[in-house]
Parts: sequence; C-alpha cells; structure tokens
Amino acid sequence: MAYLPAETRYDEMLYNRCGRSGLLLPAISLGLWHNFGEDKSAATAREICRTAFDLGITHFDLANNYGPPPGSAETLFGEILRNDFHGLRDELVISTKAGYRMWPGPYGEWGSRKYVLSSLDQSLKRMGLDYVDIFYSHRFDPNTPLEETMLALDSAVRQGKALYVGLSSYNSQRTREALAILRELKTPCIIHQPSYSMLNRWIEEDGLLDTLDALGMGSIVFSPLAQGMLTTKYLNGIPDESRAAQGKSLRTSFLNEDNIARIRGLNGIAERRGQTLAQMALAWVLRGGRVTSALIGASRPEQVVDCVGALKNLSFTADELAEIDRYAGE
Ligand code: NDP
Repeated sequence: MAYLPAETRYDEMLYNRCGRSGLLLPAISLGLWHNFGEDKSAATAREICRTAFDLGITHFDLANNYGPPPGSAETLFGEILRNDFHGLRDELVISTKAGYRMWPGPYGEWGSRKYVLSSLDQSLKRMGLDYVDIFYSHRFDPNTPLEETMLALDSAVRQGKALYVGLSSYNSQRTREALAILRELKTPCIIHQPSYSMLNRWIEEDGLLDTLDALGMGSIVFSPLAQGMLTTKYLNGIPDESRAAQGKSLRTSFLNEDNIARIRGLNGIAERRGQTLAQMALAWVLRGGRVTSALIGASRPEQVVDCVGALKNLSFTADELAEIDRYAGE
C-alpha cells in the first residue's frame, strides 16, 4: 500500500541546531549500517524507515560500504526513497560517507581525491540522488595529505553533490587540523560523527566534545546503545535474532559476566526512572544538550518507537549520573 506519512510527524520530535550552522537535526537519527543489506527483509527495512519518519526522524545516515554486500544499503534506501518517500526529499537529511574499502585495488578506500569523489558518485547513483545533505570522510587517512582529503570534500560541495560535509572518528587534534583547512576554503563542515555511549567515552577523554564546542561544530554519536548491549536483550542469554547471534560487529566476548552485571545495574536505574534501558542510554548521550543527535540502528520498527520514547525524560539528577558511572564508568 502506498505510504502516507503521519500528519503528526513533527509533533513530538526535538530538533537540535547542528553546531553554529543553519541545519536542525532530530535528537534521534536512524542509521542503516546493519539491517538494510541483502541478508535482511526489505519489507522490514521499509517499515523501519516509515516508522522513523512518522515519528519525526528526518535524518537517515548511510555510508558507501553499508550492507552486506557493500553498497546494498544505499541501493535499498534508493528504492525506499522512490517508492515510499517520493516527494519528501526536502523533508529529509540524507548522509553518506567514504573511507572504508569499497572496491578492489589501490583506489577503493581511505582518503585520496581519486577514491573519495568517485565513491560519492557511486553512492549518488545507488540512491538515485543528485546530492546528499551531508558527505563525510569516514576515517582519517594517515598516508594521504589531510589537505587532499579536505579538498575532495570541498569539491563535493562545489560540484553541488553535497550541501554540508562532516568528519567521522577523527580525534580532537585531527579535527582541528581538518577544520582549519576547510574554514579557509569556506567549506561548510558542520558535524562530527564519533562513537559514544555510557560504555564508550573516548570523546570525553580525548577532549573531542570540548573541541567541537569551541569550533562550533555539531555532533551525531553512533552506537549509543553499544550495538544493543545497552538494552535488556542480552540479560538472559543471546537471542537468535540479535546482532550478537549473527556473528557480526558485536562480539559475544563483550557479553561476559562482568558486563552483564553492569548492564543489569544500569537497568535497575532505568526502571526507577520509568524508562527502558535503551531510552536511558539515549537520554544519557543527549543529556545537557552537548550532543546534537543520537544515531541509532534498529532491526524492527518497535525498537524505533521505544527509542524515540527516550525524549520524554532527558534530565538526570547528580545522584543518578554518579550511580551510572559506578556501573558504566572505568
Ligand atoms: P545502536 O547502538 O543503536 O545499536 C543498534 C542495535 O541495538 C539494533 O540493531 C538492535 O539490535 C538494538 N536496538 C535498538 N533499539 C533497541 C530497543 N529499543 N530495544 C532493544 N534493542 C534495540 O547503533 P548501531 O551500532 O546500529 O549504529 C547506529 C548507526 O551509526 C549505524 O547504522 C550507522 O549509521 C552509524 N555508524 C557509524 C559508524 C562510523 O564509523 N561512522 C560506525 C558504526 C555505526 P538487534 O539488531 O540485535 O535487534
């Protein structure tokens, strides 16, 4: 049946300004890393996207290599854009990235101009788009001059193939260096995409959040649920349908007794707050308004609904934060 977006879609979502730019992003965004490849149901993938949009999630995050096989998530999303989101392009913020291996030979990964710009052309073709809203350098390339990678991002904007650019997983120092180049070129680099969760706090230790504040850049944090660990799903073993059971990026060694005990403790705090653990994990990364958007993944539409429920309670008492640190800190 043809999809008609919910008229209520902008009623509940919170939209945060991305750094000092003009772009607002939903506090919760949807990523298509897992669950949108050829190994998964395309019908479920469509339902996940429809549910997300109905709840005000306007931002969909992709990368050239999402699948499997690499590229297939962009191809499927292109179909969803044509069949479901037809006529809605101007209500959507779509991002993609280049950095990881996409094709064989010396030009299929990292940060050369040759790779970055041909990868973007391929991404646009797979999604059937003229432009993406945000184009990222997916990872810092130690062997290519930073200026070359940044000039490639700048070209993407000047060619009209990206409205904004971003950096993913660059540390604080590299971010400053990259931004200095882009500022000189007047390239709109407005966003950083690092990992961040109660269990993974490298951006605090590295000073990246302070750097982004100082530079006026926004942040969208990936794997805020630690790939599903910060939910109740692993408290009583590994469910068949879960990411950990599929032998993908979530290693079962993380689900050891020590970590499960911590997660159980965190779940106790969430219950007292009247939230699911997933909701508390999202509220935690969004606390205090420093992070622009929490970038979730979902294998079922119901998970998206649950995650958006996090927005009902984003504040923490000092006692709650201290207790969370006792379970989830070092
Ligand atoms: P999450 O930490 O949100 O993990 C998503 C997984 O958590 C889902 O697949 C699902 O697991 C589980 N889940 C989600 N919501 C719920 C819920 N309410 N209740 C129970 N379980 C739930 O994020 P991801 O690791 O998927 O990453 C999100 C996005 O971040 C990616 O799609 C991608 O866009 C981006 N990303 C970027 C990277 C980069 O280098 N820039 C690297 C990695 C991700 P299950 O499948 O087991 O049901």
